[in-house]
Order: sequence, then C-alpha cells, then structure tokens
Amino acid sequence: MKAVRLWLLLAAFFFCVSAGFIYPSPDEDLAILAAAYPGAFEILPGWGIRFPGGTLLPYDDGEQKDFDALLEHPDLEDMLSLPYPLGGGPPPAEHYDPGRFRPDAFFKALYGRDEGEIRATLRPVHWMPSLNGPRLLINTRFGIDEKLETIITELAALGPEYRRYLVPPGGSFNYRPIAATGRLSPHSFGIAVDIATGPSHYWLWEKSGAGLYKNAIPRAIVDIFEKYGFIWGGAWYHFDTMHFEYRPELLLKARGTKPRDQNVSH
Ligand SMILES: [Zn+2]
Repeated sequence: MKAVRLWLLLAAFFFCVSAGFIYPSPDEDLAILAAAYPGAFEILPGWGIRFPGGTLLPYDDGEQKDFDALLEHPDLEDMLSLPYPLGGGPPPAEHYDPGRFRPDAFFKALYGRDEGEIRATLRPVHWMPSLNGPRLLINTRFGIDEKLETIITELAALGPEYRRYLVPPGGSFNYRPIAATGRLSPHSFGIAVDIATGPSHYWLWEKSGAGLYKNAIPRAIVDIFEKYGFIWGGAWYHFDTMHFEYRPELLLKARGTKPRDQNVSH
C-alpha cells in the first residue's frame, strides 16, 4: 500500500515538472527571446543561446541569488522570472522589479560591446515635433527607432492635457555605468527614453526610498509605449515613472500568460 502511494506521489511530481508547474521550461522562455529579438541569436534547445559572434549564454547558471545578486549577475532565466504587469498594475510588492535583472552580456551582444559600437547603431529621432521637442538618440536595431516614431505619433494625438508629461524629455542615450557597479544602464544602449522629469517620481529622489510607491503618469501613456515593446519603470518597487525601456520579451511573456487587465489603474 505504502509503495503504491509513493509511486503515485512520484508520478504526480514528474507530471508537475514535465507540465512546467514546478520548474519553468527553458525552451518556452528561449522561444519568447527568439521572437522578441528575431535573427539576433541561435537557440540551443534546453540550454541557452549563441550569438553569431560566438557569445554563449546559458538559460540557467545554476546559482541561487538574493536580490542584489539578481541585479548584479542575472542569467536569462532571472531576466524573465518576474511577470511584468501590463499597465503597471497595483503598487508592486517589495523588490518586485520586473525588467531590472539585465544580463550585461546579453545586451552587449545585442547592441554593442563598447560606446563606439553602440553609437554606430544609433539615430536621432525627433521627440514630440509638434511640441518643439529635441532629437533623441535611439538604437536602430529591431526597428526600435521606428517604433519610437510610431509611439510619438500616438502620444501627440492624446491631447493637450498630456503635454506636461512628455516635454521636455529627461533624455535617451547616455553611455554610463550604474554608479558603483560595472553594469551599464539601459540608457547606455540607446534603448531607453525618459519622459518629463517634473511630474515623474523616482525612488532615489523620495525620502522614503522605494518604500512608498508614487506615480502621476497617466495609464494612456504607458499603454502606448507597451504596445510597441517598451516596459515602464513605474511597474517597479524601485519605481522610476519617467523611464521606458525596449524589452519586448517581457511584454510577449506578459501577453502570453495573462489577458490584459483594463480595470487596473493608479
Ligand atoms: Zn531612464
């Protein structure tokens, strides 16, 4: 009798593992990455990815990490581990920062290993031309520059009450390691845009740090950026509500796993 129960338990365990209930399937996430960055790398099923230049990145490096280690040296699994809440969702739980685990080697292989290589992939895009905005340097890989132009057209159609959130913009390309780390900010790759800083909230500017979530950016702006592959820093516990960043893999995964919730607001 006991042996039968053991076999039933074992069978249930292996069913859960094979159905992806206990461990995420590497191949599902790798397929999402391949769809998000078409032609950029080759999938090595069950293992990871290989870039044309030879860079090999494993899906799982086998390490257990605390929050700081996840920021410092995430693998591809960590990058996709926190579901991104479309439209921002409710105020995020402690240390819930979907999109802030960025494997440096992945972004360097996609966009360039140093400032010179990255600059060669950039193009100036006219930010909010109807409001006399400046030119912002944006990466041209995967048509990110063209996607931003479509975003700008849709933002311009929102109406005059949205102008204060959009101009003057905080900036885009800025080659700069994150203070006290060797990691590059997403602005270093020309894949991030900061909208107007005035009405924005940033956890480092707040007396309470990341503890008390604040946001004034309207959902309509977030929706437009997300539609074209940009995630929003207002979805993070360490909130940065002016910040938008081209991360189509997180949006593909979010849309694949749960339908868009139109009722959530800030
Ligand atoms: Zn930013």
